[in-house]
Amino acid sequence: MQVLKFGGSSVANATNISRVLDIVSKAARRDRVALVCSAISGCTDALLDLARTERGCAERQVMLDSLNSRHEDIIRRLFTGAEREQVSGKVAALFEKLAAAPEDEMVTYGELFSTTIIAEKLRCEGFRTKWLDSRILVIKGNQTLTYNNISTAVALEPEVEIFVAPGFIASEYEGKVTTLGRGGSDFSAALYAAALKASRLEIWTDVPGIMTANPKVVPAARTIPEMTYQAALDMATHGAKVLYALTVQPAMEAGIAIHILNTFEPENPGTVVSAMPEPEAGEWMGVTSTDDALQGESLLCLVSNGRINGEAACARVEDSLKKAGIKTLGCSSDGTNIYSTVRLAVAREALNAIHREFFETAPRATLNLYIAGQGAVGTALVDLIRTSGDRIAERTGKILRIEEASSDHGFAARVRKTALRGSIFVDVTDSEDIWREYEGLLREGINIVSSNRRALAVPFVEYAAMHAAAQENGVFLRYETTVGSALPAVESIAAGANTGDELISIEAVVSCTLNRILTSYDNVPGSFADIVRKAQEDGLTEPDPRIDLSGREALRKLLILAREAGVPLEEEDVEITPVVGPEFFNIPLDEFYARLEAAEPEFRAREIAADEKNCHQRFLASLTRDSSGPHGYKASIRLQLVDENHPAYRITGTENAIIVRSAYHPYPLLIQGAGEGAILAAASVLNDILK
Ligand code: ASP
Ligand code: MG
Repeated sequence: MQVLKFGGSSVANATNISRVLDIVSKAARRDRVALVCSAISGCTDALLDLARTERGCAERQVMLDSLNSRHEDIIRRLFTGAEREQVSGKVAALFEKLAAAPEDEMVTYGELFSTTIIAEKLRCEGFRTKWLDSRILVIKGNQTLTYNNISTAVALEPEVEIFVAPGFIASEYEGKVTTLGRGGSDFSAALYAAALKASRLEIWTDVPGIMTANPKVVPAARTIPEMTYQAALDMATHGAKVLYALTVQPAMEAGIAIHILNTFEPENPGTVVSAMPEPEAGEWMGVTSTDDALQGESLLCLVSNGRINGEAACARVEDSLKKAGIKTLGCSSDGTNIYSTVRLAVAREALNAIHREFFETAPRATLNLYIAGQGAVGTALVDLIRTSGDRIAERTGKILRIEEASSDHGFAARVRKTALRGSIFVDVTDSEDIWREYEGLLREGINIVSSNRRALAVPFVEYAAMHAAAQENGVFLRYETTVGSALPAVESIAAGANTGDELISIEAVVSCTLNRILTSYDNVPGSFADIVRKAQEDGLTEPDPRIDLSGREALRKLLILAREAGVPLEEEDVEITPVVGPEFFNIPLDEFYARLEAAEPEFRAREIAADEKNCHQRFLASLTRDSSGPHGYKASIRLQLVDENHPAYRITGTENAIIVRSAYHPYPLLIQGAGEGAILAAASVLNDILK
């Protein structure tokens, strides 16, 4: 004999009942079945409501009609012809009895309706079926009598393949109809199983077994494959709704394993509760909670299956709650389980925090990304996240989710209105005006990671307003990639300022384009014009190479670095000497190249002069302490000669170098390396996201 019990949601409607019938038919082919069912979902509550309304009032009739029509609907869908009429008649008779029943018996009708319909259906399918009246067989508070009644009733029917019995309902010793308490159908099933010395007891429900936490509260909860009776009992007693606590004892005494299975996923092995040996050291099984609305508190219970070090576990629980910003009102252990009390308002977060600490190997957080800009860096970033997302999650515990990648103009404004707080807006555009959205995004609690230096090289007041908005709203604004691509320049300079270092100077070779032009001119044959043209053809320059020669890009980077060092530098504070004079600007590009060609002797002469001094020409953006300067510093951007002792002497091609001299650095801090490439920039943006 096997006992199968189905809960209210498993029999909620005709479709679900059909699933139940499938499962039961399969089981019946193996061995005889005792099938125990709940009322259809919501029915018990509705009956309790009904009992509270006044007899004869219109509302009562409406309630009765609506319950009746839910059952009629199921019958209409499951049966046809004469059979339908017969079942419909039986249920209608039950409804008549219900209408006349004493108030305290009304609640017992739900299981009568559901099991009547299901027993009839199984009979129609050809099974030898017998409906058992739990009101006569199950005697509340008297297990010996109950077991006798059930085993005798079944022994009288050796031909029957499937017994169908209502769960939940019983009678008192004196014969009065009663119930086993809310959720008591599980208990009924355990009584039937013990009485019949069943080979197995299956509790079919709407979740895949007993889980490490209530999945509706803790999304990361997972099924516990097997556990001891005691651990299951502890979980049920302290709030796990999946199993009615009283169920455990009859099964445990009779040594029958309880299988907790999901009607909607019948292949899932669910949980097996059995007399498995208790392990030497307890293992954590799950975390549950019971709410005390009156006190405004929730009692959390972390259940294990054996002896544990209570003190250490309490400390760990308290610690994990503290990390989540939650104060424990009390924490204790009984040697197996840990009990802690928190305020009811934070119970959900507390359950998640404990679950993270004890049941999730890598604590995981999902980062929602909104990526603005689909140029080379944007594309590389999306690719990188797609290909490395799993590895990143493994290493960092952070799951990167691209909510949207867009190059639309209104994207930032849309993100501000729709994104969840804590999302990350990633600006990999080179938009001139997107910075106007930054403050609004930050004020909405949205973090920003940017590689767009135009957005940071805005007037200082705007820059300061963005930072204030970030700080006030507990979000970050990160932009390491804006200077020297993946080189840790911004971070290093900020670290100095944060720790009280005194900046003496910054010298930066941060224009890949100019550095490449200058080092090529020094090393490969060709005129300066040829070298510039070659750089343009290689896509290294802006569409108009004069933008690079003007030093504007370097200016933006210098502003960013200076401000990171605490110097509120403005554009007009910087003295810029472009690589070529004013006569090269504001003329058509052909003419520009012609003039460049004509000026070759000058370029050559400069280069020869440099060589004679054993120096190299470098385009340096620098900030140097100088009390006569606007903020105690002088800033300039221009070509300079550096000798072999200067750290910028050796850099070539598109390499970048940032040289910092400060009180803490007796030797200059030299940050040097590749400054160009979409993948490199994407990796640097990603690093900001993950910091
Ligand atoms: N129908 C009853 C209730 O809702 C018993 C059960 O479903 O276990 O409490
Ligand atoms: Mg139930």
